[in-house]
Amino acid sequence: MKNKVRFYRSVNFKIAFSFILILLISIEIIGAYFIRGLEKSTINTFTRDMNSRVANLATTLGTTMSENNESEAETVQRLLENNSPSDIKQMWVVDDKGIVLATGDVTDRDSIVGKKNEYSDVDDFTVKQYIALDDNGQRVYINVQPIQSPSGDSAVIGALYVQSDIEQKYGDIANTALIFFTASMIAGVISMVIALLVARSITKPIEEMRKQAMKIAQGDYSDKVEIRGHDELSQLAETFNKLSDRIEDAQDTMEAERNRLDSVLTHMTDGVIATDRRGKVITINETALSLLDVTSEEAIGQSILPLLDLEERYTLRKLLETQEEILIDRDNESGGEVETQILRADFAMIRRDSGFISGLVVVVHDVTEQEKTAEERRQFVSNVSHELRTPLTSVRSYIEALDEGAWRDEEIAPQFISVTLGETDRMIRMINDLLNLSRMDSGAQKLELEFVNFNELVDYVLDRFDMMVTSQEKKYVIERDFTERELWVEVDTDKIMQVIDNIMNNAIKYSPDGGKITAHLMETHNNVVLSITDEGLGIPKKDLDKVFERFYRVDKARARQQGGTGLGLAISKEVMKAHKGQIWVESVEGKGSTFSISLPYEPYEGEWWD
Ligand code: ADP
Repeated sequence: MKNKVRFYRSVNFKIAFSFILILLISIEIIGAYFIRGLEKSTINTFTRDMNSRVANLATTLGTTMSENNESEAETVQRLLENNSPSDIKQMWVVDDKGIVLATGDVTDRDSIVGKKNEYSDVDDFTVKQYIALDDNGQRVYINVQPIQSPSGDSAVIGALYVQSDIEQKYGDIANTALIFFTASMIAGVISMVIALLVARSITKPIEEMRKQAMKIAQGDYSDKVEIRGHDELSQLAETFNKLSDRIEDAQDTMEAERNRLDSVLTHMTDGVIATDRRGKVITINETALSLLDVTSEEAIGQSILPLLDLEERYTLRKLLETQEEILIDRDNESGGEVETQILRADFAMIRRDSGFISGLVVVVHDVTEQEKTAEERRQFVSNVSHELRTPLTSVRSYIEALDEGAWRDEEIAPQFISVTLGETDRMIRMINDLLNLSRMDSGAQKLELEFVNFNELVDYVLDRFDMMVTSQEKKYVIERDFTERELWVEVDTDKIMQVIDNIMNNAIKYSPDGGKITAHLMETHNNVVLSITDEGLGIPKKDLDKVFERFYRVDKARARQQGGTGLGLAISKEVMKAHKGQIWVESVEGKGSTFSISLPYEPYEGEWWD
């Protein structure tokens, strides 16, 4: 694992190492002082003791040697032998001429006694006390003491030379130091173990918290750090657990908030796009995706300007500065047909409290329908004005002519008045039609539904046209091709009659004299269909859809001349819509047209009052 801590870098090691280092340094300092002190006092005691022993022996020897009898040498020899403990290595007594009188060494006595001594130290008969190395390289304490006669003149009569074993003392000290060293090593090892245990007890909770923190970073809040004891570390662990809870809560709240925002965005009927500071899309909801016809992969990260087809008209800066709403015309190709879609985009900046602009929010609406309706309304008002102006202008010119004297002309006057009446009638018809349409548009007009036998209803209307044929200048023949079955439908009789009237009138109007008009009545699975076919002018293909629009006429002059208002089919369409039915036309120009209406129909098999 990458973040595994090497042992020598771990807190564990550092604590244990410092611990041991401090311990060793203290032991060393204490040890150095202790050994030094021990050495000093041991050596001092030894030399002091040796000095006094040698001085005492010298005094005894002085007394013995001053008696000057024959057995002097033997007495001295005995004295030396008696005073020769194990710590004395060599001991001689010399007389005032430097000749060895006696020695403490029993084995070598004959080779030494009676000869001149080998040590120049003794030659000047003064007190000498020092540490030296002997032939074997061992430390020895040299003590030279002049021997004086006990009589009043205190004359020097010889010297005592003592070489004592001080090495043994140094050895003792070295042994003590070794014991000290061994003890400190053992103490070091024990404290090392203790230090490691203590350090582990500190680092273990820390390690646990580190692991927990890593889990939290990965979004796993399930575990808790175990709390042991009541020390600062357990408090830290407790705080850590609380922190973890808080983070989890905050995370949950954030998640919930984000989900809420997501679902708001998803279910919004407006498209919402958010961008970063550079105008790159960071969020886009479903509606916006479908409005712009892109996938989320294509949109995210893309710049907002090309996404909305605005790069030619705007820069990002201009968008941010103006923040106006923008209408976007887009040509959408669906199934080979090009449809113009109009989108309205409202822009708002996302600003932090500090004033820093961190992005842009764009709300996109599809206003194609709205714009179309507004356009239609404008068109409608202009059409109405235009439609009324033409008859009004002609009425006015006739009245003007009458006013200027034509009323006196018995031939012209009635003709003028009749035209004026005709135009006025047409205007009234148009106004009535418009009112009708307006009522249907606003939904103010309720259908008065009743069950009727549709065959009888159509027959009734057609019979009327048959009756009228004699009184009209244009002749026509009506043929009926009805299904045998009685078709009962629920309709507003007056309104449906108005629709059939209108289709029949048109069929007659736009047919040549003597044309045949055929009415088919049939049923499909759940519709009743009435089709009325004429052998008239027909309608050019491009106008087929438009004949149901208000004021639309294929040939304006001709239609007007026929007294048409251009509203008949538009009203029929509204009536059929209100009945949940349909109206449509098929036509071949020059051959004739077929207008059909369909009404919802439920075939009924059983008895009526079952
Ligand atoms: P109008 O009062 O002008 O007849 P309509 O709404 O009834 O108004 O008809 C709209 C237009 O549709 C007519 O002006 C005419 O050009 C065309 N039209 C309707 N019926 C027929 C038909 N049977 N044959 C040819 N053209 C027709």
